[in-house]
Amino acid sequence: MNGFTLTFLAFLLATSAIHLWLAERQRANVLRHRHAVPEPFRDRIDLAIHQKAADYTSAKMRLEQLDIIVGALFTLAWTLGGGLDMLAGLWAKSGWGGITAGTGLIISALLTMALLDIPMNAYRTFVVEARFGFNRTTLGLYIVDAVKQGVIFLLLGAPLIALLLWLVMHAGGWWWFYGWLVWTAFTLAMFWLYPTLIAPIFNRFIPLQDESLRDRIIHLLERCGFGNGGIFIMDGSKRSQHGNAYFTGFGANKRVVFFDTLLKSLLPDEIEAVLAHELGHFKHGHVRKRLVLVSLGSLAAFAILGILIDAEWFYSGLGVQNISYAAALLLFLLVTPYFTAVFQPFSSYWMRKHEFEADDYAAAQTDARNLIFALVKLYEENAASLTPDRLYSAYHDSHPPAPVRIAHLSSKLAAPSVT
Ligand SMILES: [Zn+2]
Repeated sequence: MNGFTLTFLAFLLATSAIHLWLAERQRANVLRHRHAVPEPFRDRIDLAIHQKAADYTSAKMRLEQLDIIVGALFTLAWTLGGGLDMLAGLWAKSGWGGITAGTGLIISALLTMALLDIPMNAYRTFVVEARFGFNRTTLGLYIVDAVKQGVIFLLLGAPLIALLLWLVMHAGGWWWFYGWLVWTAFTLAMFWLYPTLIAPIFNRFIPLQDESLRDRIIHLLERCGFGNGGIFIMDGSKRSQHGNAYFTGFGANKRVVFFDTLLKSLLPDEIEAVLAHELGHFKHGHVRKRLVLVSLGSLAAFAILGILIDAEWFYSGLGVQNISYAAALLLFLLVTPYFTAVFQPFSSYWMRKHEFEADDYAAAQTDARNLIFALVKLYEENAASLTPDRLYSAYHDSHPPAPVRIAHLSSKLAAPSVT
């Protein structure tokens, strides 16, 4: 216990309290507007669907609140509760060398955390998602997914952790800078390889080949210089009824992915509009911009870790007596989210700005009306709330809430509306 203990507790309590309060606001706001479909959607969305969205959002907020409390309790158990110190003590007695024992400590701690996460995760999938008719994941698939994730984590994570620990021990005072270079190279490589190497381990990706769409899509792709190919359909229906579309990767590995669930309900005009939106992300270089910001953030994180790793108060303040570099890395991973939560609203704002830019691009390339129709279907199918709380949304949402986004698109419509 020292001054840092109190600082950490203050941040943990404040962050948890704010997150709980925001989730409660969201829940209350959605339930308050449950009785009627909001004006701009009144003739497009049934009351029953609106009420399902309200109930679903409310259930998700309850789950989020539980998650916040359990997460804070786990963090306390690992740190001040002595969980990490106990595990570090076991590895210190193992008799293995520094890097082996350190890698073992980090991997065993992260795997334990993942195992402790399973009950909450399974409850989300098999109880909440299932109650609203969204879940398609079988228990078998759930287990297979977990095993695959574990194997990928071991294959990719273990060498990375060992290399980082080696740098801490042997690269001198600038280890954190080399560590950041390694980390950034790893992140870029993962981002590059993910669409073609990792994602197909979990889902099937088929190139979009629709005769009725083909010419228009090729035209659109030419107009924005995307190159041919790279438009895929993913079998999202394997796990969930939720539908989506996203843009990922860069260079030759860039791709736009449609979930089969979404594609099924969209008309050709609407598919073209959604594709134009995703191409807007490509055109504006959003993926590149985000990668630059993330790597600057991780540079700051490594620089701070470079100081903390040699500070006795950092370990003792968080309940660790068995000091090691591996323990410092784990403590840093555990407590950082509570200190960086203040950046969340800025990051969300920036992401929403990108969504507006991509919507503007789609409105310029296609008829904005088609994107509006597609979005309404997307909100309906995902039971997204049409009446989110302003503060919750400003803090958390990476996409503008439905009414804001549709109002923005409507303002782009060239033709005046007929009254
Ligand atoms: Zn988008």
